[in-house]
Formats: sequence, structure tokens, C-alpha cells
Amino acid sequence: MSVFPNISARTAAAAVLGHPVRHSLSPLLHNAWLADAGVDAVYLALETTPERFATVIAGCRGGLLRGVNVTIPFKEQALALADQISARAAAAGAANLLIFAEDGHILADNTDGQGMLDAFARQAPAWRPRSGPVLILGAGGAARGALAALISAGVPRVHLVNRSRDRAEGLAHLFPDKVSVWDRSELAPLETLSAVINATSLGLGGGDGPPFDLSRLHSAAVVMDMVYKPLKTRFLSSAEARGLTTVDGLAMLIGQARPSFEQLFGAPPPDVDVRSLALRALGETP
Ligand code: NDP
Repeated sequence: MSVFPNISARTAAAAVLGHPVRHSLSPLLHNAWLADAGVDAVYLALETTPERFATVIAGCRGGLLRGVNVTIPFKEQALALADQISARAAAAGAANLLIFAEDGHILADNTDGQGMLDAFARQAPAWRPRSGPVLILGAGGAARGALAALISAGVPRVHLVNRSRDRAEGLAHLFPDKVSVWDRSELAPLETLSAVINATSLGLGGGDGPPFDLSRLHSAAVVMDMVYKPLKTRFLSSAEARGLTTVDGLAMLIGQARPSFEQLFGAPPPDVDVRSLALRALGETP
């Protein structure tokens, strides 16, 4: 018998790979699902550096690990190292999931956009992608995944506002007919927006959110924050104070983990209340 009763010579493994990664909630979510489903596998958090990332991935070819979720700052590097790329990862220009096939191939996917849409479906069920333009604040890796998913879901137009305008323009060039870059949101027609999404890291750790005038939004507009530490960011609190429907970053995190689990372990995750587990880990009341 093993010293660790749940780990045997048959136990499979997967991981999240990032830098930093020790704060990640992904092991909590995946291991809760694995335990409930009785799958003989573990899900770890592994840290590497940008310099070592390509070597680490090369060492994973052949399927010793089932696969890895990749997070900051590796999503674009991960895509470049894959042999087969899903349409949504190609559209996002970034991968958050690499599957290591036994024949040595690496398959890349991106479930971040699906996770974001799943979060909208759960927390803002009345919102429809076709109901109006969406504003994304930010133009980093998270914004990329969101942009591709929103467009493929039927959002008629996406506007981007980012501190570095050239980065937003680089993203807009991927979908020239659907995406425009705004210099400053306060001069724009905000009342037409069906949703505003914070995809910057502003608000992380309880700091100020993105500078944005929520008072000009339509009363049916939805406000989402991808930041989930704290769960109720200042941006979401202000939106709630205005009576707007809000969507939090934890719903997106869980939403991207579900399809990742299915690809890593071959079956959808069981029905476990992982949100309550994650809230406890974040020090929030479930
Ligand atoms: P990136 O580092 O790729 O991008 C960061 C973005 O934030 C850029 O648009 C950057 O602007 C902007 N930004 C950072 N600092 C400032 C500042 N001081 N003022 C104005 N803008 C700023 O990170 P990601 O896109 O990967 O992640 C963004 C956020 O989304 C993070 O908080 C991350 O935790 C969260 N996230 C949540 C997920 C979830 O499942 N809930 C999934 C993925 C990410 P610039 O281009 O000018 O530098």
C-alpha cells in the first residue's frame, strides 16, 4: 500500500504550468472533481520560467503527463510549441491547454473564452451575445481569448480600450470588420453597450479597478470582472451599487476548467460544488 493512499503506480497526472503559479485554484478544482469521480489521477501546480518553458514542454512530449493548463505568462508561447491547434486557440492567438498525445504530438486549445461565456450564462442568464456591442478593457492574453469567443458567439461589435494602444490595435487587426479601438472610453457611446468586461489586472488584490464611468451604461448592461481576488472587486461593487448585473472572475475560472478537465481526463467533471470550495480558499463566505 502506498503511503499516500490515493496515489498508486497507476495514477495519471496533469498540471497547471505558470510563473507564478503557487496561488492557483486549478489544483483545488480539478482534484475535487477527480476525487468525486473516482478517477485515479492527480492535478498539480508546476512552476517554470519563461527561459525554461520550451524545454519543459519538449520533455512532456510522449504523454507522461496527460496535459497542462498554461497560465501567465505562457499562453502565447504554448500555442507556438503545439503541433495541432484548435480553431478557437488559433483565433485567440493563445493556448491555455496543451494535451500530450502518446504519439508525441502536442494539441493546443483555448477554453478561456468558453469559460467567460459560461460565466455570463450562469450569472447573467438574460444577456444575449447579439444584444449589442461589448467593451473589453485590456488587450492582454485574457482579452484575446474573450475577443475571439465573443465574436464567434455573435456579438455584433467589440470595442477595446487599453493603456498601450498599439497592443489593442494588434488585437483589432485579427478581426478588422468587428473590432475597433477606442482611445478613451469616456468619449465613446457607452449607452449602446450590452456588456463591459475588465480584462486588465487592475483591481487585483483589492486595488482600484479600471477608470471607467459606469453611470453612463444602459440599465440592462452587464459588467464582468475577470479578476477574482478579491471576488467582489471595486469595479463589480460599483456596478452593483448602480443596480447592474455582474459576472465574476471565479465563474470564468471554473467555466474554463470544466472543458479542460474533460479533455485531460476523458469525461466531463462531476457535479461538485467547487465554487464553494474555491470561495473558502479565497477567504470568502460561500
Ligand atoms: P496580461 O499581462 O497579458 O495583460 C494585462 C492587461 O492589463 C493589459 O491590457 C495591460 O495593459 C493591463 N494593465 C496592467 N496594469 C495596468 C495599469 N496599471 N493600468 C492600465 N492597464 C494595466 O494578463 P492577462 O490578460 O493574462 O490577465 C489579465 C487579468 O485577467 C489578470 O488579472 C488575470 O488574473 C485575469 N484572468 C482571469 C481569468 C479567469 O479565469 N477569471 C483567466 C485569465 C486571466 P498594457 O497592455 O498597457 O500593459
